[in-house]
Amino acid sequence: MFNTDCLHAGYRPENGEPRNIPIIQSTTFRYETSEAMGKLFDLEDEGYFYTRLQNPTNDTVAARICALEGGTAAMLLSSGQAASFFSVFNIASAGDHIVSSSTIYGGTYNLFAVTMKRMGIDFTFVDPDCTEEELNAAFRPNTKAMFGETIANPALAVLDIEKFAKAAHSHGVPLIVDNTFATPWGCRPFEWGADIVTHSTTKYLDGHAAAVGGAIVDSGKFDWEAYADKYPGLTTPDESYHGITYTKKFGLGGAYITKAVAQLMRDFGSTPAPMNSFLLGLGIETLPLRMERHCANAKKIAEYLNTHPKISWVRYAGLPGDKYHELAQKYLPKGTCGVVSFGVCGGRSAAERFMAGLKLASIATHVADAKTCILHPASATHRQMSDAELEAAGVSPDLVRLSVGLEDAEDLIADLSQALERV
Ligand SMILES: *Cc1c(COP(=O)(O)O)cnc(C)c1O
Repeated sequence: MFNTDCLHAGYRPENGEPRNIPIIQSTTFRYETSEAMGKLFDLEDEGYFYTRLQNPTNDTVAARICALEGGTAAMLLSSGQAASFFSVFNIASAGDHIVSSSTIYGGTYNLFAVTMKRMGIDFTFVDPDCTEEELNAAFRPNTKAMFGETIANPALAVLDIEKFAKAAHSHGVPLIVDNTFATPWGCRPFEWGADIVTHSTTKYLDGHAAAVGGAIVDSGKFDWEAYADKYPGLTTPDESYHGITYTKKFGLGGAYITKAVAQLMRDFGSTPAPMNSFLLGLGIETLPLRMERHCANAKKIAEYLNTHPKISWVRYAGLPGDKYHELAQKYLPKGTCGVVSFGVCGGRSAAERFMAGLKLASIATHVADAKTCILHPASATHRQMSDAELEAAGVSPDLVRLSVGLEDAEDLIADLSQALERV
């Protein structure tokens, strides 16, 4: 079950072996014959030869995340950004098109709208709350995937995963869901029809702001062979890998991740350090306990802010009356996350004065770790966006994003209260 898997999935030490996941801090692995190594390069045998492609510590922790999401294969990457990029680029090339929710993380928006556009991949951004007709209208014959975030950072919109999955599947493309804020403790997107899940493990999965990292998990459910013309990279021989056809050799459960490792890791090298993967594995051990506390604290703080006269609005899907409360009850019944966003009366300058007055919550470009931190996205993570783009991403100029940590809720409320008095 879930709590047990957080501690044991992916690693069961044999007699006399280390109880913690070993950190294999080695670039290379020794073989006795060239022939034995050649089989690894041909993907004929399983084994390690160079950490840029695969490393035992990384793979062990990937297997743990795979189990938590209920997937068939997974990989770790050096950042969430790398995970978002690989997840799309693995099945789309120049001339292709992707449909994405508009309420996504600012870094992902920039990756899609600017950098990947320069690679010739076009994105259409849709309001996740739009009707099914509007959603269907965004697809083109060259659309290769659909993308959204379970809980959008920082807009805190909850994605109607079933609605998105239905639209994606009726156009013969997979749904990729960034499950960073929800974590598999809160929501397992595969159970609602998503095909691929990505994570910035930098956030709750690590949970201690110790290591930047990313992950991709495949459900194994999307039938690439049924749309073989659309996904030739998976269904026809890869000449850069000795003519292997990924779907034939690794099946629907393994094709997508094997291709991403064999081609994209090989060529881009976005490999996590084994030490970082160890820290991630350690963090995951306490994920359920931390998420319970994050959610309980955030709910208390959202309730406090909601009645404060100097707060103009509060967004927290765990709060009854929130625009996304109903979707949260469906997709995130145990709790949403520890992030609350709100506006301070008086707009941007009042928000800045309020933040400067905080003593316990630190101003940091981070979210989702053990210690409470706060950010004004319009002047930090989202500052490259125009006001119209901010609006579409669900980030108003006065939005303050509070990432509620594991401290005593009373201490956090006292800190917010003294800072609001000075505004
Ligand atoms: C932080 C974040 C990312 C990017 O991850 P990094 O680990 O910072 O590269 C992607 N998606 C979401 C939802 C995030 O919060």
